[in-house]
Amino acid sequence: MKVLIGYAMLIAAALGSVTSHSEDARWWKGNTHAHSWWSDGDMPPELIASWYKSHGYHFLVLSDHNIMQEGEKWYPIDKPPRRPEQILKAYETYKNTFKDDWIEERVVDGNREVKLKTLDEFRSFYEEKDRFIFIKGEEITDRYKAHPVHMNGVNLVEYIPPQGGHSVVDTIQNNIDAVVAQSKAFNQPMVIHLNHPNFYFAQTAEDFFYLNVDEDDGFFEMYNGHSHVENYGDEHHQSAERMWDIVLAKRVGELRKSLIYGVAVDDAHEYTKWGVGVTNPGRGWIMVKSAYLTPNEITRAIKRGDFYNSTGVNLKSIERDGNSITIEVDGERGVNYTIEFVGTLKNADLSATRATEDHTHFHVTDHEHREVYRYSEDIGKVLKRVDGKKARYEASGEEIYVRVRITSDRAHPNPYQEGDLEMAWTQPFLFQ
Ligand SMILES: [Zn+2]
Ligand SMILES: [Zn+2]
Repeated sequence: MKVLIGYAMLIAAALGSVTSHSEDARWWKGNTHAHSWWSDGDMPPELIASWYKSHGYHFLVLSDHNIMQEGEKWYPIDKPPRRPEQILKAYETYKNTFKDDWIEERVVDGNREVKLKTLDEFRSFYEEKDRFIFIKGEEITDRYKAHPVHMNGVNLVEYIPPQGGHSVVDTIQNNIDAVVAQSKAFNQPMVIHLNHPNFYFAQTAEDFFYLNVDEDDGFFEMYNGHSHVENYGDEHHQSAERMWDIVLAKRVGELRKSLIYGVAVDDAHEYTKWGVGVTNPGRGWIMVKSAYLTPNEITRAIKRGDFYNSTGVNLKSIERDGNSITIEVDGERGVNYTIEFVGTLKNADLSATRATEDHTHFHVTDHEHREVYRYSEDIGKVLKRVDGKKARYEASGEEIYVRVRITSDRAHPNPYQEGDLEMAWTQPFLFQ
């Protein structure tokens, strides 16, 4: 053991600055999915940034539908497309928070409109070294027939229009390819994640099996705080979390493809009223391990998988050492934790059974039939469970992958669904 440590120190010395990065690395809290007046959110972006910053977040992606916060756009205060009372309330708050010389209002046909501030105009109000940054992004809001295909581009340089495609899978692939192409064109790291796969049950696990993505380009939302996205599935459909297990088991265990990282996000639209059923901020986020709080470094860390998902549980450390994984919760007094190592073994049955019933629960006409398949319960099985703040798992080598889920016994203060507990999820670990 001593010899190993000595060797590690030698390597550390040789790597110099690289090693000091990882020594200085810390956890940064951020949300990659939120909407403002630039699309269908109920608040101007400045107030949203203020909410996130004052609630301890370090980074925020304002991910409006098919638009970035740039150029000229006027928001119709008196005739908004939705939530008129909330918009009026937000406008009052906006006027009380900022002076008249900040807010640019005009009247068109007797109705007030306000000129939206671009990210470049307002970012300096909030950004602070090691405290808060914006990462530019967009919800690329595509569809195949009636099936929504929404994907967030994170750390984009410029707007990407929805790419379209001749199937759900093709549409996903085309939008991934567009972000990868922009990332290469600007030589800047970017992430694209598929959003709310169960929204209208538009995506199925099978959609992810054959996606052609590099190791660091496959992401999907395993948790989305928006009240209407069916995180937990229904009697016919898997939860987003189980979908993740099926995708991991098939891609890694059978198809020899890269793993897919899971992200947790808010998908916040409403900041003027609160409660279960309202699409509020503060529900799900990621904690990213990085030495620097900058858009490129946070994005690079996400691409490396150096992050975990949370709805309230903080982790002190996630350590991988050979075949063992050690997890330590940053526990709070009076709260109990259960740590579960979830995975799929190489001998699991990965075959699909076509569900017998149900072809019509997608209640629209212009849709492509989505076949519903069932899989063995051996996929995404709890391999070890520990009550407490620290747990260790020794892989036997029989695992396709193992990930860790931490559940507290404390209720989420403003949950996606009544009864939700505060939780955390790591990314999957692979073993030789
Ligand atoms: Zn969406
Ligand atoms: Zn959204």
